[in-house]
Amino acid sequence: MADRPVKELSWKTPLEVAHKPAMDKIAKTGICGIMDVIAPGIPPGSDTATLALLGYDAVKVYSGRGAFEAIGSGIDVLPGDVALRCNFATVDDEFVVLDRRAGRIANEDASKLAESLQKIKPTGSSVKIVFKNTVQHRAALLLRGPKLSTAVGDSDPEKVGEKVLEIKALDNSLEAKRTAEILNDLLQKFHKILQEHPINEKRVKHGLLPANAILCRGAGTVPNIKPLSEVYGVNAACVSAVSLIKGVCKVAGMKLVDVNGATGTPQTDFMAKAKAAVQTLKTNDFVLLHVKAPDVPSHDGNVKQKIAVIEKIDQMLGYLLEKVDLNETYLAVTADHTTSSLTRNHEGDPVPIAITGPYIRCDDVTEFGERTCAKGGLNRIRGIDLMPILMNLIGKTRKFGA
Ligand SMILES: [Zn+2]
Repeated sequence: MADRPVKELSWKTPLEVAHKPAMDKIAKTGICGIMDVIAPGIPPGSDTATLALLGYDAVKVYSGRGAFEAIGSGIDVLPGDVALRCNFATVDDEFVVLDRRAGRIANEDASKLAESLQKIKPTGSSVKIVFKNTVQHRAALLLRGPKLSTAVGDSDPEKVGEKVLEIKALDNSLEAKRTAEILNDLLQKFHKILQEHPINEKRVKHGLLPANAILCRGAGTVPNIKPLSEVYGVNAACVSAVSLIKGVCKVAGMKLVDVNGATGTPQTDFMAKAKAAVQTLKTNDFVLLHVKAPDVPSHDGNVKQKIAVIEKIDQMLGYLLEKVDLNETYLAVTADHTTSSLTRNHEGDPVPIAITGPYIRCDDVTEFGERTCAKGGLNRIRGIDLMPILMNLIGKTRKFGA
């Protein structure tokens, strides 16, 4: 949601231009500030950002994106397992990538292909695999067995026209070497099965790209963190459509709430998510309502769509303001990172934050925005500070000292 000033908006940000009465009301009745989600100038990933917003020291506990993706897609990841994010892709006979998403393959085709891959065993190893497709071309691969390592590189060159990479060990350990060997062997076998798969024959016949290779990246394992119930003694839940975010929240011991129509895209059902959040709050102390939508047009450089998405989020917040009793509930609005619609990347600029609720030290800020919030009473905090502040407001942060 947060951005940098945009020339075509007369040097305002999409958030500053958007019509957002609900956000402004939260800013006006609350305490505002700006927040370095990881640290000043560090562009956060969505996974490290969410860890930080939930109060964890992401720099210390982060263990790669793959495990979160796998957990969020419903695979049980245990300590010692290594999980990777995967794409169904199209390659030519020389293993040069023609399409990283196999023409954004439909879920139905991907499910059938994934089923065949699930049965593959790596040569000469007792390691078990789980392969599961999620949405379209996205999937996760999990290795389970002794002596595995997350210190392995990617096979995904992340560029069309480049050759699929051989997975390399990233340190000198036997475990890393062994894991890289197992993965390279598996990916060859996957290619062979996919190449001859009836689904792909059918796709080619219909003029669609065959999903004849699996690209993988981001090897990771489950981070060793205490669930929120243990840290603060709260029941926590998360409303999100994005498996990466769901994975982080699950590791934090939060209940995952699935919402019909929530897609993680600008076409998501915003109001269905707001309704689910209000419902979930009845049985939980803390609810994280996550909306991916503004990040998508930012990466596309689509300023107009970003403004429209922010206005839809504002309508969700309007619903929350109406349905949630603010005499006994705190509502915090923020972003997990700045995504510049000019650079089309996550950037290290701080994000705005506003918290409203009973007995809050309200400040003079009357508008929610990157620059207005900088003048607020919270001043400049870090992502890791947010949970202790919120938990203290509801009487759950433990006293430090006697
Ligand atoms: Zn992004």
